[in-house]
Amino acid sequence: MISIEGLSKIFTADKQKLTAVDNLTLDIKDGEIFGVIGYSGAGKSTFVRLLNRLEEPTGGRVVIDKQEITSLNSRKLRLARQEIGMIFQHFNLLWSRTVKDNIAFPLEIAGIAKAEREQRVQELIDLVGLSGRENAYPSQLSGGQKQRVGIARALANRPKVLLCDEATSALDPETTNAILDLLVDINQKLGLTIILITHEMHVIRKICNQVAVMEKGKIVEQGDVLDVFLRPKQPVTRKFVQQVM
Ligand code: ATP
Ligand code: MG
Repeated sequence: MISIEGLSKIFTADKQKLTAVDNLTLDIKDGEIFGVIGYSGAGKSTFVRLLNRLEEPTGGRVVIDKQEITSLNSRKLRLARQEIGMIFQHFNLLWSRTVKDNIAFPLEIAGIAKAEREQRVQELIDLVGLSGRENAYPSQLSGGQKQRVGIARALANRPKVLLCDEATSALDPETTNAILDLLVDINQKLGLTIILITHEMHVIRKICNQVAVMEKGKIVEQGDVLDVFLRPKQPVTRKFVQQVM
């Protein structure tokens, strides 16, 4: 279970204050595929980066699996982050490393011995469907294949949670569907909780159980995907629902 209480992030730049995430409270159950949708600037990326403290909150708490992430010292935070994988819109791969060495990278950092590393990398390559491309470099891969590497790397330390920030936004519709199918497969096989951020309602409809709609740093509507589709309450939600009508 992920429990978020009163989470806030206020950025200060040039003496101006900007509230990117505004006193957000939310529970996410284990094994859920939880979607967060909102327009550009709504605070989605900031929200997800607060969960693993890539951003430091200015207020509130995040508890993942009974561990209060927001109160950990840096050593414990490093360990806790192994339980929280993340994938990105632009993949963030290491361009000078092969597929297999990208996936091995978090295992090297975690101090896993070579033999175990190699075995785990091979399992991950099979899981994400990249067999035969182990020795390719990211520049030799398609967008969909790059994201498969990103997913395998995020799963390397067997996290309990996977954070996806616009993970399919750089991909064409067919490749998007293949990556979403892979996320469902991972959710079912590994029992992993997935938090998926997007500005596309069809992505939510295809794979999420729950959805939260963000506007100006707040969650303005939340519930079962089907309920929200059938009975959108807020104008912003109606606009998103119309995208897929
Ligand atoms: P998009 O769909 O475009 O990715 P988003 O919903 O992910 O948007 P955020 O990136 O979380 O939105 O940004 C929320 C607000 O916080 C924006 O107004 C943005 O300009 C501001 N913001 C984000 N990061 C910073 C930062 N490091 N310093 C100052 N302001 C920031
Ligand atoms: Mg964003």
